[in-house]
Amino acid sequence: MAVINSIADRTQEMKGWRHLLHQHPESSYEEVWTSDFIAEKLRSFGIELHRGMGRTGIVGVLRGTGSGTAAIGLRADMDALPMQEMNEFAHASKTPGRMHACGHDGHSTMLLGAAQYLAETRNFDGTVYFIFQPAEEGGNGGEAMIKDGLFDQFNMSTVWGMHNWPGMDVGKIGVHNGACMAAADFFEIHITGSGGHAAMPDLAIDPIPCGAAIVQSLQSIVSRRITALEAAVISVTIFDAGSALNVIPGSARLGGTARSFSPKIRKLLEDSIYEIAQSTAKAYDCAVEIDWQLGYPPTVNHANESVRAVAVASDILGHENVITNLPPSMGAEDFSFMLSKKPGSYIWLGAGPAKEGAMLHNDRYDFNDSVLATGASYWARLVESELPNKTGG
Ligand SMILES: [Zn+2]
Ligand SMILES: [Zn+2]
Repeated sequence: MAVINSIADRTQEMKGWRHLLHQHPESSYEEVWTSDFIAEKLRSFGIELHRGMGRTGIVGVLRGTGSGTAAIGLRADMDALPMQEMNEFAHASKTPGRMHACGHDGHSTMLLGAAQYLAETRNFDGTVYFIFQPAEEGGNGGEAMIKDGLFDQFNMSTVWGMHNWPGMDVGKIGVHNGACMAAADFFEIHITGSGGHAAMPDLAIDPIPCGAAIVQSLQSIVSRRITALEAAVISVTIFDAGSALNVIPGSARLGGTARSFSPKIRKLLEDSIYEIAQSTAKAYDCAVEIDWQLGYPPTVNHANESVRAVAVASDILGHENVITNLPPSMGAEDFSFMLSKKPGSYIWLGAGPAKEGAMLHNDRYDFNDSVLATGASYWARLVESELPNKTGG
């Protein structure tokens, strides 16, 4: 009941890989150096490689001992964020404007560590697919791999995911039974009025009060149209209009995101935003165009697989350190595409306090190397428990 010793022994090696990945961050679909690095490692472990799925994605195939036909998929994400790193330590990003601020360098490293251990020990019967996906940060990389035949070409019965979680103590794992991350959709609202002199608004059609009214009214959707027992968020994050202090602009642009968990609420948010934007624009004599961008679906864990994830996590950390009553996050995750096709479970790996500099997407974030062995051990034990070696290997 602990981290696997021979995985703990390779912590320094994993740390080296993680720091290299951190120094070479690449954002969605640009993961060329990253996928070369991962492919080279997998090849050196003797793992069969399939490249180019979802552009830069990789699937490694490893067969255990025995003739079992059972197969599972373990997924890590590889992409970094298009932001400037403010850390100054030796392994800080070498690429301006790119940063591993979500810990996908750590995710890839933990799956590599598990792959190396499993290739050496092969104490399982069946096939494990190591899925390294591109473009998790808004680029639908998981969906791209599915469209490229991930589940047609590789016949796995379940899929499993993991994210490091600042805000949860090191030494803890969280497993949701059901929804763990929200659906995330995005919208832009283009308002057209008629520009003119700021001193003579009666001769113009001012889109700014119209936009302000839309922003105000959108806030009533969650508070007045949705039961208090359902979670939803609408945030307007862009309000763009005007260029001069004495000019009424001809147009304005609003944008933002809508988050939800159930299909019913997701549809209600979309319908309500359309209805409010259109009717408000009409009241202000403006024209409106709405661009709705359907984003990631909610990430929903499957019940049976979550029970098994809890058992494996308990085996590594002790039952008392596995948290099963967590509220979901309003963030989103494109592992949701895989979980909507195959049963599986996505866990949160405790990464320490989420204080300044340790929060995901913060410009001073760094993956916590002290959890590398825990995450890799979870992967390895999961394989050994899902694909048991009947010979007792
Ligand atoms: Zn992220
Ligand atoms: Zn992430």
